Amino acid sequence: MSEKISLRAYGKINLGLDVVRKREDGYHEVRMIMQTVSVYDMLELERTDTPGIELKTNLAWLPVNEGNLAYRAADSLRKEFHIKQGVRINLRKHIPVAAGMAGGSTDAAAVLRGVNRLFSLGLSDEELMKRGVKLGADVPYCIIGGTALSEGIGEILTPLPPVPDCYILIAKSSVSVSTRFVYENLKADELRVHPDIDGMAEAIKAGELRGVIDRLGNVLETVTIPAYPVIKDIKDSMREHGAENVLMSGSGPTVFGIFNKEETIHSAAEALKKTGLAKQIYEAEPVNAQQVSVLQAGRE
Ligand code: ATP
Repeated sequence: MSEKISLRAYGKINLGLDVVRKREDGYHEVRMIMQTVSVYDMLELERTDTPGIELKTNLAWLPVNEGNLAYRAADSLRKEFHIKQGVRINLRKHIPVAAGMAGGSTDAAAVLRGVNRLFSLGLSDEELMKRGVKLGADVPYCIIGGTALSEGIGEILTPLPPVPDCYILIAKSSVSVSTRFVYENLKADELRVHPDIDGMAEAIKAGELRGVIDRLGNVLETVTIPAYPVIKDIKDSMREHGAENVLMSGSGPTVFGIFNKEETIHSAAEALKKTGLAKQIYEAEPVNAQQVSVLQAGRE
């Protein structure tokens, strides 16, 4: 009987994103506070008798070969462990694509976990993370999830305690943003304002939501917002409708607002829908690392 594994691959937002410098090798050294949110893709993984990887997705325009990180993740383990059987992957995308929510990276992380389990490879999280970083800098983070400080090019991780409960409104306009475009146009040496990443980490350790909210900051806004002013319009709408604070996630264009009350996030979401500025709107909550590990390991 063929076993089928169902996995949730959660998206992330950046509560803080700072670029420290551009390295000699062209990569940017970052300091980010990562937070998993309850917006997720669904993946089903199955063993088949036809060798190779077979990937299906609900978005017709997404690649279903090496161009897809989910495919690459499965293929890397297949090759390393000389897996003779095939793997069938059904990917249902909900996380906005090319949006600053690590959608591809989280799918890759889920596939690494899933293939590890499906073929009883016995790899620990650390061993999966070592393989994940070869697929993308954010993949190791997506394997552990929750709240974490991410440094280096994103691969040096320090887990933090969960952030206090809150409501997170997530909105993406119809524009798609290339991460490469944003980093190429960032003037890292000329940044005058840097988010207080250490202060935010301290606030998280102290369980002080206000200290987190007051420190939201993302230096990539200096590139993405002038190029796509709709991001500012969405931020303004959330702020006008009761968000405690608002920020762009990653290289954008996804915007999130943090709310204290359930009624307020509902009415802000309704108001934003009416503006027509956002194509995808989600009312979400923070997800902690323990929830990520339990729910990723789901079996059917
Ligand atoms: P990050 O926050 O890490 O910058 P992102 O949200 O900007 O990620 P993704 O959603 O991962 O970006 O997609 C970026 C590009 O990667 C897309 O244009 C898409 O063609 C490609 N891609 C490959 N695999 C996937 C996948 N499984 N899901 C979404 N996009 C994928």
